[in-house]
Amino acid sequence: MAKRVTGPEIEKLIQLLAKVPGLGPRSARRAALHLIKKKEQLLGPLGHAMDEAYHKVKICSCCGNVDTIDPCTVCSDVQRDQAVIIVVEDVSDLWALERAGAMNTAYHVLGGTLSPLDGVGPEDLNIKGLIDRVSVGGIRELIIAVNATVEGQATAHYITDRLTDLGVKITRLAHGVPVGGELDYLDEGTLTAALRARTAI
Ligand SMILES: [Zn+2]
Repeated sequence: MAKRVTGPEIEKLIQLLAKVPGLGPRSARRAALHLIKKKEQLLGPLGHAMDEAYHKVKICSCCGNVDTIDPCTVCSDVQRDQAVIIVVEDVSDLWALERAGAMNTAYHVLGGTLSPLDGVGPEDLNIKGLIDRVSVGGIRELIIAVNATVEGQATAHYITDRLTDLGVKITRLAHGVPVGGELDYLDEGTLTAALRARTAI
């Protein structure tokens, strides 16, 4: 076993940072050391921001977006076309589409994809919330913007089947999204092209 080089508080910081996506143990050590060296400029403000986020963060009860208000900023934005809903897997996809700035619409975050092998069924996703939103009426179009993966496409089919009787126009992303591609990794131009070229399901 390696000898300890630092106290348990710093070890804990490293261990927690290592759980952040994109960071492994090695990057976590570098990040922790950087934070400690920039104690006043970075470590303090970061700790404060995390504490504030922890206490204020909310999941929007309408669309599933992450915000500090409920309904979220997107759902309460009267400048948006709230009759068009872009259905995404994750909040990161919502953010990516907003960065692309292609559409000025509402969203619905599913919270994942159907994956029977991993035990993820329809009841584990925010699908009932979507059906409820459409059932209330006033929705003109649903744009299914899930990842071009097997699970994503299976999820798209499931949603389409469930909503088809409600008489809402359902479209999906067409060109530009590579097979197996994740929306969050696409450049903004590709995303915009995919949205503009959406096709009816
Ligand atoms: Zn919302």
